[in-house]
Amino acid sequence: MNERNDRVFSGIQPSGEIHIGNYLGAVKKWVELAETHECFYCVVDDHAITVEYDPREMPRQTFDAVLTTMACGLDPTRCTVFVQSHVPEHTELTWLLNTVTPLGSLFRMTQFKDKARNALQRALGQKKGGARKSALYHLKEVGAQALTLIDAARPDVEALDPEAEHTDEQIAELVSRINDRMGEMMQHLQVGLGVSQASTALFDYPVLMAADILLYKATLVPVGEDQEQHLELCREVADRFNRKFGEVFPTARRVKGAAPRILGLDGSQKMSKSLGNHIGVLDPPEVVEQKLKPAYTDPRRVRRSDPGRPEICNIYSLHEFFTGGDRLAELAEGCRTAGIGCFDCKKTLAAGINRALEPIRARAGRLRANPDEVLDGLEQGRRRCVEVAASTMEEVRAAMGIGRGVIGRGAKEVERGD
Ligand code: SF4
Repeated sequence: MNERNDRVFSGIQPSGEIHIGNYLGAVKKWVELAETHECFYCVVDDHAITVEYDPREMPRQTFDAVLTTMACGLDPTRCTVFVQSHVPEHTELTWLLNTVTPLGSLFRMTQFKDKARNALQRALGQKKGGARKSALYHLKEVGAQALTLIDAARPDVEALDPEAEHTDEQIAELVSRINDRMGEMMQHLQVGLGVSQASTALFDYPVLMAADILLYKATLVPVGEDQEQHLELCREVADRFNRKFGEVFPTARRVKGAAPRILGLDGSQKMSKSLGNHIGVLDPPEVVEQKLKPAYTDPRRVRRSDPGRPEICNIYSLHEFFTGGDRLAELAEGCRTAGIGCFDCKKTLAAGINRALEPIRARAGRLRANPDEVLDGLEQGRRRCVEVAASTMEEVRAAMGIGRGVIGRGAKEVERGD
């Protein structure tokens, strides 16, 4: 397939506030890709409900995410913008793909373990309440089960005497039993501490992501490196399906360099609303300036007269996106020679960010005053999605021998007595 014919799929969480990390790391590239490819862009509310959330807040957050992506430049007349739960085929395909997804592959997903562990830590960190108590009960239960497994392995460990004349069969049997018990225990501990308390939906998240991509037979996926493992699973699932039921799905690949990792204002972690190290694309100019003031810089620049190292300073990395040309080189030189202080450097950055965000804020203001424009764009997107999704699902169900499309064939065979 010629690259221009590639279909593009990507999604964004309805966090309610899109920040410059999302913009630089995803949405800006989406807008560019929409000029040259057929693109499907989705606000992934079905994904968002796999962790704790407030159902009363969800509609506003979802609408806000759609509005902000449109304000950032996604034009519903040039690409398909939609909300995941408005196209139920996403969850239907997830279920069908579950049948060809090995549990072992899902257990390897590092993001699942991280999210589950974080959820448990959050529950344990709560001062009081049911979540904390239930997490503590859970830990106690997991610990007790692990001790039982250790006890079960004890007789075999004790029976293994390096000085004794064991036969090959005896050794093989002992080793296999010890391995089984230890493996079981490790699995139990690893899974138990957090992971087994997570919802089945969180565990199945990567299959839903595979379904998102495969439903549209997308072959290009502009996501960050941190999603490579999920994309690998998507390819594995598609491949298993194709081998078992016949060729239906193409191979999806990541658009390399499409989603650079943007660090937050703490200079150490990825920019994220939940970490509070972000600048929202709709933050007013004075908020942008305020947020930048305490932002992390080169730690060796303690005094104004200390020379700095722009190459390790996150403020300078942001300048690379927002301050162009000669000014960028001047800033680097000014930093290295202590000709410019961090205060002024940040002021220049704030001006650059505000210049870039101004048209986005203006479009967002216009869309807020005309919500029907957003809803119409969404409806247009939903219709296009349903068209493609219905066709893929017909193919998938027929290949798997299920659904209304094939039941007539069964009736005929019964009638003929086949
Ligand atoms: S002058 Fe700018 S680039 Fe240099 S350390 Fe300060 S904030 Fe960073």
